[in-house]
Amino acid sequence: MSHHRVAIIGSGFSGMGMAIRLLEEGMEDFVVLERADDVGGTWQANRYPGCQCDIPSHLYSFSFAPNPDWSRTYSKQPEIWDYMRRVADDYGVMPYIRFEHEVTGAQWDEDAQHWSLASSQGELTADVVVAGIGGLSEPWIPSIPGLESFKGPAFHTAAWDDDHDIAGERVAVIGTGASAIQTVPNIQPQVKRLKVFMRTPPWVVPYSDRPVTALERRIYRRVPAAQRLVRSMVYWSHELMVLGLVHKPARLKLAEGLAKRHMRSQVPDPELRRRLTPDYRIGCKRILPSNLFYPAIQEPNVELVTEGIREIEPDAIVTTDGERHEVDTIVFGTGFHVTDIKAARWIRGRDGVLMSDVWGRSPSAYLGVAVAGFPNLFFLSGPNTATGHQSQLFMIESHIDYVLDALRTMERRGLRSVEVRPEVQEAFNRELQARMPGTVWNSGGCSSWYLDANGNNATIWPDFTWRFRRRTRRFEPGKYVSRPALSGRAAAAQAAGAAA
Ligand code: NAP
Repeated sequence: MSHHRVAIIGSGFSGMGMAIRLLEEGMEDFVVLERADDVGGTWQANRYPGCQCDIPSHLYSFSFAPNPDWSRTYSKQPEIWDYMRRVADDYGVMPYIRFEHEVTGAQWDEDAQHWSLASSQGELTADVVVAGIGGLSEPWIPSIPGLESFKGPAFHTAAWDDDHDIAGERVAVIGTGASAIQTVPNIQPQVKRLKVFMRTPPWVVPYSDRPVTALERRIYRRVPAAQRLVRSMVYWSHELMVLGLVHKPARLKLAEGLAKRHMRSQVPDPELRRRLTPDYRIGCKRILPSNLFYPAIQEPNVELVTEGIREIEPDAIVTTDGERHEVDTIVFGTGFHVTDIKAARWIRGRDGVLMSDVWGRSPSAYLGVAVAGFPNLFFLSGPNTATGHQSQLFMIESHIDYVLDALRTMERRGLRSVEVRPEVQEAFNRELQARMPGTVWNSGGCSSWYLDANGNNATIWPDFTWRFRRRTRRFEPGKYVSRPALSGRAAAAQAAGAAA
């Protein structure tokens, strides 16, 4: 069984970024366990037609690996995935990744002071585990009565069936979230008939996506500072949204005005506009930029269905009004398991305690990175570190810096393990949850994946992201219980014991 200083789970932006920074620090004793057969995480998995990022490319990329050649202001999935593969190659992390290794168990061994990991391809141990598992990695399909009886293909946007040709078919798309509203306009021209099942209308705003000109790209290549300036401008303009989302949701009426104007300019029929108008504050659910969704649903081959779904029959979706909508294929754009984190059901900390038992139905961590009772385990993008307005890479890179500093501190002080103090984690979460009631996510009048089964906001960082960066700049040993490394003799005795 192999042993490593660090085991990283996942090779999306989080895991890959961590691996790159470890190499830069000269810490080469690590392994990356990736369940897929390629790097990319969510950008490898989500290959549905039209998949595109809604954060501008110059900001949605590693700060240390700018790409002057982005072809659009908002990149499409293939270009982001290419970027990630290129970065993985350029920074030499590929040899450290074990593909098709799905981690299925992690158990902290208090005596040995290390983690034992079980994967689909065997076992290994590691002193430290860094979980870059992503918050949007487990597709969620609702359990609609009769679903198993459907005889055609039925798949999730995050598991698009490339082998199935939908051209000329009658297709249903269930959901009108970020993934579905990108899928709909892209499949509409190909299919015979498209039924879009909308339970809650989203707020849709204009999308300022455009091709990046050759001149701009030349400038970015020759004057990297120009690209850094654009990145910085994008960051600060997005950061301004915190003033409404967190501090005073009423300020978001301006954005609602923009969205309503967008709808009026694209949807002439007042009755359709009524059906499409949300009854909750903008920002409560993710704000969706699209210039294509409203036009697509008004095409003659498309029907917007707002009746609830009652059941699924072998060849149809039946709505609560009894109407049968005959379809050949069903596409679920129904989101992800976000707060019921699957990994929590296979991570066992001190005394064999299961993380899902500790969390109940409300995940929480200190700074989204460490959980009491689970030594030497660091989450990247853990609980309460998603944002409704900013590039997630900013949060990921903040976490990576924090973990690196933790590893350096452990090395410098000769520590075998560090574990966040429970009172530190509790105080942090009290402070965090105290901010929530006034935010748009908790008071905006919608239900969203940001809230967990107890109604707590376990997902969002309710503040400016620069404040998050400030708080994660340094690992704080005083907030952790640490265990020193064994003396030479004790270590030898333990090794002999283990061998016996
Ligand atoms: P989502 O935002 O959770 O949307 C799920 C959709 O499915 C909602 O419209 C939801 O309706 C609907 N739904 C769920 N269960 C249903 C049911 N039983 N019957 C009818 N409708 C049902 O999921 P997503 O679109 O995959 O997006 C998830 C997140 O991924 C986004 O918020 C974003 O953070 C990220 N993402 C980003 C991009 C991008 O950058 N452009 C693209 C895709 C995804 P309700 O609203 O009524 O619940």
